[in-house]
Amino acid sequence: MMGAPAAFDVIVAGLGAHGSAAAVSLARRGLSVAGFDSGTPPHALGSSHGETRMIRELYAEHPAYVPMVRQAYRLWRRLEESSGRGRGELLRITGGVTIGRPDSGSILGVRRSSQEHGLPMEMLDADEIRGRWPQFEPQEEMVGVYDPNGGVLFGEECVRAQLEEAARRGARLHFDEPVRRWQPDGGGVKVFTDSGEYAAGAVVLAAGAWNRRLVSEPDLPLRVERQVQVWFEPAGGGGLFGPDRCPNHSWEWAPGRLLYCQPDFGRGVKAGFHHDGEMYDRPEDVDREVRLSDEQDLRDAISGILPRLGGRVLRSIVCMYTDTPDEHFLLDVHPGHPNVIISSACSGHGFKFSPAVGEAVADLAAGRTPPYDISMFGIQRLLG
Ligand SMILES: Cc1cc2nc3c(=O)[nH]c(=O)nc-3n(C[C@H](O)[C@H](O)[C@H](O)COP(=O)(O)OP(=O)(O)OC[C@H]3O[C@@H](n4cnc5c(N)ncnc54)[C@H](O)[C@@H]3O)c2cc1C
Repeated sequence: MMGAPAAFDVIVAGLGAHGSAAAVSLARRGLSVAGFDSGTPPHALGSSHGETRMIRELYAEHPAYVPMVRQAYRLWRRLEESSGRGRGELLRITGGVTIGRPDSGSILGVRRSSQEHGLPMEMLDADEIRGRWPQFEPQEEMVGVYDPNGGVLFGEECVRAQLEEAARRGARLHFDEPVRRWQPDGGGVKVFTDSGEYAAGAVVLAAGAWNRRLVSEPDLPLRVERQVQVWFEPAGGGGLFGPDRCPNHSWEWAPGRLLYCQPDFGRGVKAGFHHDGEMYDRPEDVDREVRLSDEQDLRDAISGILPRLGGRVLRSIVCMYTDTPDEHFLLDVHPGHPNVIISSACSGHGFKFSPAVGEAVADLAAGRTPPYDISMFGIQRLLG
């Protein structure tokens, strides 16, 4: 017998970093929430896997991100507490250093955020960098900006904690049940999966690399970028790269070319290029095999600046960025449907913001303006 579809205040499609965060924020506000994912997150098929993600307060990409990242720090700590995890189990402060030429985009960007928001930072020349971290070998003309609040988030554990928190607050989470389509329905939205249809007052589209397809109309200029993460065994042991002696570090190692490394938490030093990956229209087409040339390219780039990181490769995995043309987020209501919220906060730097993105999404779903400025993430800029 066909009954009325199950009805919720809000349905979240995609339960990775941002969908799970949105489910937490919505459920915390007392709303009835259903969430759907095509897999069982945390999994290794989207954008949120690979053990660690960098968080930094001195935001090179634009000072407008600073209020949002500060809120994210608070919310990660709150999640550690509410989920019964100890301090440092989701977010570990290691300090962070950005290294490059004084006139590079990265260095100018972090300095601008520091100045505009009065944030602490320390400028170091190449000798001072080597003196403090003998594992780093910057070129003579390079400088470093040290962010004492830089650190690392444990990605899969963060997603797990958000899903647990959402479920504890009453969200109904459906794994291995992809959303096939949605449609406006009276004042709300209907969502269709292989198991049936569901009704809601609003829907949040948070399907990461699959969001372009899920949004469908308008066709958004979101592209999927293949990114390889490689864990190197430090030559001569991991001591110098451990989290107590090594901050997370980003290098503009050549003009406009970026790479990052995260400390060794016992399983090697994770390194990767930031951007520079192959671009695709669809996540299904991304080559998931790590090639020898992927590892070799990274090894070549780090050999001069991190000579002690020349050990063997312990493992490697492919991940995906979902890029907008200007590399800022997309966080807005659908232009044709005010109760459809599109959450696409990636371009390779969105993880750290997850709980703050979740709050912004919950505000948008309620027709409210978030407490931090998200006007830079509007959809109109992406529509020709
Ligand atoms: C290698 C790498 C390094 C990065 N480093 C950093 C970093 O240091 N710091 C930082 O802040 N950010 C970083 N990022 C970016 C950050 O990880 C992403 O911004 C973030 O993970 C995006 O989360 P998401 O929820 O949008 O996507 P995902 O976590 O991929 O979630 C999308 C979910 O949607 C599901 N889905 C897909 N289709 C459907 C459907 N039809 N119905 C239901 N569910 C569906 C998928 O199964 C998936 O679980 C990095 C990304 C990569 C790839």
